[in-house]
Amino acid sequence: MTGTLADLLERDRRHVWHPYAPLPAPDPPLPVRSAQGARLLLADGRELIDAMSSWWCAIHGYRHPALDGAITAQLGRMAHVMFGGLTHEPAVALAQALVELTPEGLEHVFFADSGSVAVEVAIKLCLQYQHALGAPERRRLITVRGGYHGDTFGAMSVCDPVTGMHNMFTGALAEQVFAERPPGGFGAPLDEAYAAHLAEVVGRHASEAAAVIVEPVVQGAGGMWFYSPAIVSLLRELCDRHGLLLVLDEIATGFGRTGELFACEHAGVAPDVMCVGKALTGGTITLAATLTTPAVASAVSAGPGGALMHGPTYMANPLACAAGLASIGLLRDGTWRTRGAQIERSLNDLLEPARELEAVVDVRVLGAIGVIQLARPVDVRAATGAAVERGVWLRPFRDLVYAMPPYIVTESELEQIAAAMVAAAGAAGATVRARR
Ligand SMILES: *Cc1c(COP(=O)(O)O)cnc(C)c1O
Repeated sequence: MTGTLADLLERDRRHVWHPYAPLPAPDPPLPVRSAQGARLLLADGRELIDAMSSWWCAIHGYRHPALDGAITAQLGRMAHVMFGGLTHEPAVALAQALVELTPEGLEHVFFADSGSVAVEVAIKLCLQYQHALGAPERRRLITVRGGYHGDTFGAMSVCDPVTGMHNMFTGALAEQVFAERPPGGFGAPLDEAYAAHLAEVVGRHASEAAAVIVEPVVQGAGGMWFYSPAIVSLLRELCDRHGLLLVLDEIATGFGRTGELFACEHAGVAPDVMCVGKALTGGTITLAATLTTPAVASAVSAGPGGALMHGPTYMANPLACAAGLASIGLLRDGTWRTRGAQIERSLNDLLEPARELEAVVDVRVLGAIGVIQLARPVDVRAATGAAVERGVWLRPFRDLVYAMPPYIVTESELEQIAAAMVAAAGAAGATVRARR
């Protein structure tokens, strides 16, 4: 590293944009020198347990020898080649592995370079499918409030219209159809009033819509919200009834995070189109994929365009595909399931004290996801400060302090994470109270 720490931060401040941040950022970021297992090693020598798994990706922890080894071995053959007219073993093997791993019926894989792009590809597939069936007017999407599907324009159009970025881009975004947010509670039985509402919205807009798109069971960046799998089953029925495709965005939920390999397995349904990303490469290199059925693929291929109209420059990057294949290899022994169940039990116990805090309105846990919801927006500076003091990296947003730790986290690391979450929620709440 060149220069001192202060110099690095100064150059960062001057030139580098961080996510959802103004320039310069109000708070300096923490410089990370390296990472190992569940831990980030900061440039100033401190060590933090990463309870975020780097935005939910690093499920096996950092510098896992199987992942790093696969990337290094692939680097010795080629870092990248274009995917138009060429192919390679890592892409074919990963596609095959994804087809085997995902629900019945998904047989074809389109590789994209990020989750947002995988969602764009899913949207194109649905519109092209309806066009091929002779219904080009069916081009709107039906979704529920509270969702998050990415930051590109098509993806943004199906994010929550209030908490998403709709206000800023009014007029520039496609106008989609929004049903109310599903009522909360993973274990809740099907809410009859909500079921009737969904059926009404889908029925009313079916003739102008191509598909329904949702995050199954867990809405992630839209609010860390858990809802009943029965609603996912209902959406499957409604789509079948009205000739709509069902798109399930498993970018956040896929690869074991919710206690099943894919969240739609809680509902026992398979989508027509599925998006995966984030943990696909175990947090090493950006890669995402859109999977679909032979029915959709053959209709689109026989349709007016004669092809799926997408093709990223770095499509199916071999290094990323090799990492993805290695990550799936690590999932195959099934320890993710026992670890996930253990993390769920521990977080349930360890987060219990948060319920006593004045500012806390809800504490919820599903699989390897733990959430403390406050009555008001979190003071992010106070909350992250309290967590860092306790050796834990958290990145709260809106009214939420949450953790999505790597599956390899130990019991004592979980205790430290939970204590930091409770302290962060306390600090955020206390700050809010003091300001009132
Ligand atoms: C993160 C996320 C995306 C976007 O993925 P990027 O790789 O950040 O573009 C889309 N959908 C869901 C559910 C996500 O959690």
